[in-house]
Amino acid sequence: MLDCGIAGGKTLDDPGDLTQVYNIVEIFHSVQGEGARAGIPHVFIRFGNCNLRCEWCDTDFLTFEEMNCMDILSEIFKFDCKNIIFTGGEPMINDLWPIQRLLKNRGYHISIETNGTILIPDGLIDWICVSPKDQIYSKVKIKQRQGDELKCVYLGQDLAMYDELILGFTHLYLQPCYFDDKSVEWNGQNFALTESVVKENSSWRLSLQTHKWMGID
Ligand code: SF4
Repeated sequence: MLDCGIAGGKTLDDPGDLTQVYNIVEIFHSVQGEGARAGIPHVFIRFGNCNLRCEWCDTDFLTFEEMNCMDILSEIFKFDCKNIIFTGGEPMINDLWPIQRLLKNRGYHISIETNGTILIPDGLIDWICVSPKDQIYSKVKIKQRQGDELKCVYLGQDLAMYDELILGFTHLYLQPCYFDDKSVEWNGQNFALTESVVKENSSWRLSLQTHKWMGID
């Protein structure tokens, strides 16, 4: 029996929401390692599948299991943490309203990390981080053009390509391209190049993936 997670035990849950099934790669508790909310503990819900295939992607989003929302909530309740991040894969290929309603009924703050190719409905998400991929897929259209953070992987692209997009975001991050299977020197050169670009474009900040340096998820 699911502990409903609300003091007093009453919920306004729709029974259909509790049985909604999602493809889940993993659910884990960690500290956000990058962006404006870096350092804040979160429960990460990594959804399976993605509508893109980026060369540098380090997520095995094709290994997942089907979990209904009761099972997902049971996992989340193991952690004393009210901050959730939907990540992936691409979370927005799912109908996120059922899990969103269940979490909001329990007072959770919900962030999302998305590639921006699918428009996020108003009111679904509290904190939106868009990481566009149109620097490698020129035919990809970024539909989510507003949010809290814009996080771009730097591959030598002209930052002028974001002149219009940046108007919809509060925080702008440029992230060095990082490959686990490349040498420290190779990744270091990418880091130095990105750092030099940020120094010349002061509206952007360097995105430091501190969780990777610390060897945590
Ligand atoms: S959009 Fe993100 S999850 Fe999808 S393939 Fe690219 S890096 Fe991986």
